[in-house]
Amino acid sequence: MYRQILRRLTVGAGPKAQFNLCPSRVQIISLQRLCSKSDEVRLAQEASQKSSSPAPTIFSRVIDKSIPADIIYEDDKCLAFRDISPQAPVHFLVIPRVPIPRISEAKDDDTELLGHLLVIAKNVAKEEGLQEGYRIVINDGKHGAQSVYHLHVHVLGGRQMTWPPG
Ligand code: AMP
Repeated sequence: MYRQILRRLTVGAGPKAQFNLCPSRVQIISLQRLCSKSDEVRLAQEASQKSSSPAPTIFSRVIDKSIPADIIYEDDKCLAFRDISPQAPVHFLVIPRVPIPRISEAKDDDTELLGHLLVIAKNVAKEEGLQEGYRIVINDGKHGAQSVYHLHVHVLGGRQMTWPPG
């Protein structure tokens, strides 16, 4: 960054002023310190923004295996486990390991992860024998009747579903 400032000082000021504005070694060191200080602040801010993780939910404990769950699939990005209160003969949840609280808070950057959750939901549904079809649900927020604020994909099957949902 200090090199950019130096370039602006020398190139931007024109050849005549270049001599006058050519910084001394002491000035270069000061510039380096100034820039590295502001870089440090920026990097610290970025790190703190990244680490401001949402409050842990019961699903964090399923992920770290501090509570038991019937896990039927897991990889480095997600887990699938049976719902503790099944609403159909087959009812499992697919959750990301990163704690995105709800679908409405997912970022554009999460596109690949969200696609992965659906692919895994589809693969596990096949393994669970849901050839006749199934329903995939993501509840969001109060009106969506979401109760656990760690994004999860419900997969329900093994019976005829009805429409509209309640
Ligand atoms: P939602 O209402 O969309 O937030 O769904 C949360 C789901 O998580 C419900 O269907 C619950 O039965 C299920 N659930 C809550 N705690 C557990 C748990 N420890 N293991 C498995 N499923 C759970």
